[in-house]
Amino acid sequence: MSKQYETVIGLEVHVELATKTKIFCSCSTEFGGAPNTHTCPVCTGMPGSLPVLNKKVVEYAMAVGLATNCQITRHCKFDRKNYFYPDNPQNYQISQLYAPICRNGYVEIETESGSKKVGIHEIHMEEDAGKLIHDEWEDCSLVDYNRSGVPLIEIVSEPDMRSAEEVIAYLDKLRLIIQYLGASDCKLQEGSMRADVNLSVREVGAKEFGTRTEMKNLNSFKAIGRAIEGERARQIELLEEGKQVIQETRRWDDNKEASHAMRSKEDAQDYRYFPEPDLVPVDISEEWIEEVRSRQPELRTEKLIRYKEEFDIPEYDAEILTGSKQMADLFEAATALCGKPKKVSNWLMVETMRLLKENGQEPEDLKFSPEHLAKLVDLADAGSINSTVAKEVFEHIFYEDIDPEAYVEEKGLKTVNDEGALRETVERVIAANPQSVADYKGGKEKALGFLVGQTMKEMKGKANPGMVNQILKELL
Ligand SMILES: [Zn+2]
Repeated sequence: MSKQYETVIGLEVHVELATKTKIFCSCSTEFGGAPNTHTCPVCTGMPGSLPVLNKKVVEYAMAVGLATNCQITRHCKFDRKNYFYPDNPQNYQISQLYAPICRNGYVEIETESGSKKVGIHEIHMEEDAGKLIHDEWEDCSLVDYNRSGVPLIEIVSEPDMRSAEEVIAYLDKLRLIIQYLGASDCKLQEGSMRADVNLSVREVGAKEFGTRTEMKNLNSFKAIGRAIEGERARQIELLEEGKQVIQETRRWDDNKEASHAMRSKEDAQDYRYFPEPDLVPVDISEEWIEEVRSRQPELRTEKLIRYKEEFDIPEYDAEILTGSKQMADLFEAATALCGKPKKVSNWLMVETMRLLKENGQEPEDLKFSPEHLAKLVDLADAGSINSTVAKEVFEHIFYEDIDPEAYVEEKGLKTVNDEGALRETVERVIAANPQSVADYKGGKEKALGFLVGQTMKEMKGKANPGMVNQILKELL
């Protein structure tokens, strides 16, 4: 019988923080500026320039640490990680090795097999590097330092995960916590959240860990899942052949669904770390921690419980609505305005999700205002527009954030509730469709539907369908 293997996975997650300015200078962190316009002597590593720590970075790191059950290091320090690379103008990165800001935390994840704690070894603050652009010219690479000095936190997990499912559950949990805190938008595709996967395999029951590799360049949950499967298979094959796994950094190529070696794995000592001499240690008082703690917003787990109690909506709705901060904010604001939680929820879960999917968008991309959604719910609820018209109006809200009241007025979409006008139309439809009338009287229920449809068509979709039904039955 062949051997059984267990996969052991730990993650290093880099998150770009949502500060307005960089970690050690006042340059803008805004994405997409012309190359090298958001730079200064500090973030381009000019001799003699001195870094000044951005307080907001420390507060975001503390907020993430508190939300992930970490201990906050009261006397935390920065260190220099030395290496040469053209996107790193100082030839070192300011990071934290010896006294990172947060340690010993955990998050709880849910998978098919139940809930589980994944340990967080540490969270440290550091600066991002610039960006090399290779592709556009044949004979040279250019460098853009706009990203140099953008604040990052690196969240290092314990090797507690055993499958791709657990890894994705962990990343999703982190993403939601950090988004709810407002510390980052955590978009994998845009690189504001990046995950490196440390993976090894060992025989089931073995006490020692196997040799691990580190995989980089994973920019979607799907790619992470495939990379884990691929690397597990590669390592098992080596072991089965009696070969050794080499400790190295590998790059995952999602198009080829294969990884290749980038460089042998370096140890901390290769970087000649030493205490950063240009920055004083950060002393974090108990009061400061409490201040940050008191500002923590309601996170997803608490929101889930509150939604079911306060709004009396099904668990399924609450799960979807709280699955993104943007969606939850929209839901709460629209519900506060119209007081109809289940109806607001229906618009978000059905039509909104459908349109997002159709456009390949995420809930974070939603642009419409809660005021307009609330007005639409009110219009539909009052019977001022029927459900077909409501869907049409909603599409315009989704794309253009129009005011539904003004739109309905302007396009003349109000439902006709005038019984006289409806009766007149129904009479005309009955006279024009003797065959359907006969069918209905002969017991064919479907014929009624046809007559309702004809009446709606005559009224250009604006009739109150309930009333049409009633009048038809009465007249037949
Ligand atoms: Zn700068």
